[in-house]
Formats: sequence, structure tokens, C-alpha cells
Amino acid sequence: MDYKSTRDSSLRVTSAQAIAQGISKDGGLFVPGEIPSITLNDIKALCDMSYIERAECILLKYLTDFTLDEIKECANGAYGGEKFENGMPAPLSKIGDTGFYMLELWHGPTCAFKDMALQLLPYLLTYSAKKTIAGKEIVILVATSGDTGKAALEGFKDVKGTRIVVFYPQDGVSAMQKLQMTTQEGGNVFVCAVKGNFDDCQRGVKEIFTNLEITKELEAHNLVFSSANSINWGRLLPQIIYYISAYCDLVNDKEITLGDEMNIVVPTGNFGNILAAYYAKKMGLPVKKFICASNANNILTDFINTGVYDTNRKFYTTMSPSMDILISSNLERLLYDLSGCDDRYISECMSALKNEGKYTVRSEMLQLLKEQFVGGCCDDAMTQATIKELFEKYSYLCDTHTAVAVKVYNDYVKATGDNTKTVIASTANPYKFPKSVAEAIEGKSGEDNEFVISHRLSQLTKTAMPKPLGGLDEKAVRFNGVCDKTTMQKVVYDYLGI
Ligand SMILES: *Cc1c(COP(=O)(O)O)cnc(C)c1O
Repeated sequence: MDYKSTRDSSLRVTSAQAIAQGISKDGGLFVPGEIPSITLNDIKALCDMSYIERAECILLKYLTDFTLDEIKECANGAYGGEKFENGMPAPLSKIGDTGFYMLELWHGPTCAFKDMALQLLPYLLTYSAKKTIAGKEIVILVATSGDTGKAALEGFKDVKGTRIVVFYPQDGVSAMQKLQMTTQEGGNVFVCAVKGNFDDCQRGVKEIFTNLEITKELEAHNLVFSSANSINWGRLLPQIIYYISAYCDLVNDKEITLGDEMNIVVPTGNFGNILAAYYAKKMGLPVKKFICASNANNILTDFINTGVYDTNRKFYTTMSPSMDILISSNLERLLYDLSGCDDRYISECMSALKNEGKYTVRSEMLQLLKEQFVGGCCDDAMTQATIKELFEKYSYLCDTHTAVAVKVYNDYVKATGDNTKTVIASTANPYKFPKSVAEAIEGKSGEDNEFVISHRLSQLTKTAMPKPLGGLDEKAVRFNGVCDKTTMQKVVYDYLGI
């Protein structure tokens, strides 16, 4: 199966090329030439399998230039052994008799859902490179709103033939997230703060990627860029698996009957996670509605309601920082699909976005969008009220991002009365954001450091701080550099010795 660019449908590459390259040379994103299908019978067969076996089946449909043995090694390397708590990468947790289930995607080494993709990506990328650019060293550039950075560093640390550089917004991540990154071990890693927000980091990285002069300079040093952000198809693909797996688990637990529809709620930033759910539906998974939850940066809510995507607005720094994004890159892939693969039209929209910070989609696209997606948003105060309510009612402690999803889902049910069984993507462990979570539970804020707070939160809620976060305060900080948003290229060159 071929992959094509959202800005030039005639540009065709293999899955290995799409993954090794990360982004298309025309600035577009790679999408599958056609979406492979799964029937209810296929889903029935998946129900009897482990997570790793389910992953192998789905990967095989998309990575047609990989051998079965390669795919097995990728899936086992990523999800096997002790990588994920109790050997369960994506367990479902039933919340009382509410009709919704938490799909807990944070049982991996960095306690956020990014591990689901970034434990697999290094394997996919290593094989992809072997098939397409053998002999070259891969330089992974990452812009992170907090969780991707750490998950990518952990996934790629000491992976042969790769080096990784991570940029994060200086004041845009939690203290815990920052410490996770600045204490990262490994001989092939580099981390730098940027004076700016996530959009600045993402723009800077994209510019470095698509700059031909820089690419040439790298080539001369036998280096080649790739991306671990969700613009890389290898990041999205692993995320399709857990939605299908969650459906199987609901069937196995007799919460639904094979063929029933479910709703999916996703706390959304760069639109990667929810787009993976959309691809799962396109494959044949019975999904009724996608509920796209945003924080105060509610550009996606407005877009789903009006068809106007307008970045000319205030940027808010919230307590759900991984969703503090105004330019949701993966929306481009959805628009491409909704437009009937109209590459020229997508190019126009994306240049309008670049030049005027704004575009409006055609009315028939808006209609398609509204048929399947519901958008909603929630501010910090409601986020904390939701954390408290969920804990008091169901003894379930969730993080700030997940709370945004729960609140938007509650609003949706109130407005529609829809009682379809619903899976909420729970995207981070609450101890990644202990200050905001403890404040929600205790009803007051303190000046304590995040480890003191975590300890208190643990006693108060009788929950345990996850092991990977526990020892962070004793680790040495290795990276304390800060750069301007205009000097990111120099940082990369300095690190690479160019
Ligand atoms: C990255 C992230 C999100 C947003 O996911 P997208 O795929 O960018 O939409 C939500 N919650 C958490 C905790 C995250 O780390």
C-alpha cells in the first residue's frame, strides 16, 4: 500500500519512506493511499487476542512493505516485557454505571499516552531507515507541549543510528514534565527550552525540516532528519490500535454486543489522537460520534461549530498544557479526507493559514465534519471541579487533560441525552500534574514543590505516585539551555557539530 501527501496526491511513497521521512517535501503530511478495512468478523477474531497480537494484525494492514517477522519484533519490543504496567498497555476502567469507560493510556514508562506511539516508533523507524536510507544517521527533531518530548527521549535513548533533539516552551510545561526532560539519560539525546509557546516550537521545527539548505548540509554529514511528532505517520498508526482494542475489550466484558456503536471522547491538542480514532472508524470500527474536547484554547470547538479555523486569537497557558495549541497539525489529514482528497484545496487552506492565520472550509465539508464530530471546551475552574467530582463520586483520580474530556462529555450527554457507551481517552497519569490535581481535591493552593504535593495527594486519595516519577527529584539535571525561537537552527547545528 502506498502513502500520499495531503498537498500532492500524485506523490507516492512506501510506508517505510513515509515513516523515515516524517513529513512530505511539499510540506504536506503522509496519509494512506487507501484505508484498509476490518469487518466485524475481523474484530471478533481480535477479541480473542492479546494487545500485542491485535497490534500485529493492524500494523500488518498498513505496513505492507514490512515482513511479518519485522512487525512481530516491533510490536513485542514496544509493548512486551515490563515496558507497560502489568503488561497491559491500554486497559479500560469502568466508571460506576455512568456508561463511560476510561481508556487508560498512561501505563507506560513516561506516564502519558505518548508512550503508546513512541515506544513503537523507534522500532518502526529503524526498520524504515534500513529499507530506505541505510547507512545514514537519523536526527529526530521534536517540538513538544510537554509529554511528547519525554516519551520520545525515552523511546529513542541509545537507539543505534539515531540522535534526538527536543524543544519545549520554557514556561509552557509542568515542573514535573520539565524535570522529566532535563534529567533524561542517554548518549544520543539533547533538550533545549525555547522562549516562546508550543506553536513557536512547532513552527521552528517545521521550518528546519523543510529548509532545503539545512537538509543539504545534513546530507553532507551523512545525517537525515525525521520527526517523532504526530505529523509522522509512524506516530499515528500505533494510536489506531488502542481504539480497536478498547472496542474488543468492551465486547469481551459484555458491555456492548459486537456491532454496537460506541462514542469516543478525546482531549485534543494537535488532533493526532482523535484522528487515529477517525481512521479506526474508517476501517470499519462501529463509532457513532467523536467528541473533541478542548481547554480554553478552544479553536477546534469553534472550527467544528462554524467551519472557520482562525488562529487570530488569544493564546492561553492552562493547567492542561499538552492541549495549549492553536495550530493543530493533524487537522490537515482530516480535511484532506473530508474534501475527497482534494490536494490543491488543502494546499490553499494551508497557505491561507500560514499567511492570514485563518481559513474557512467548504460547506459540504463542514456538514461532513458535523455529522461525525462534536466539539466542546472547558476552562481551568471547570477542569478542577470535574477532577473533584469524579473523585468524590467514583473514587477515580484523573489528570487535568482527561478531566477536560470528562466535562465536555458530561455537557454532551446533558445536551443530547445520548446514552451510547462511551470510551474516554485518558491521556496522562494525574501525578504528572500534581499541583493542579491536588488543588482540585483540596480546594486550595500551596507553594509546596511538586514532590511534597505528590506525597500529600497520595495520602489524601490513597493512590500511588507512579514509579517513573518518584525518583525524579534526586536525578541530576543534564540540560538547562534556553534559546530564542529564532535560534533553534543554531542549537541543532551546535549539537550535531555542524
Ligand atoms: C499530547 C497530549 C494530548 C493531546 O493529544 P493530540 O494527539 O495532540 O491531540 C492530550 N493530553 C495529553 C496528556 C497529552 O500529552
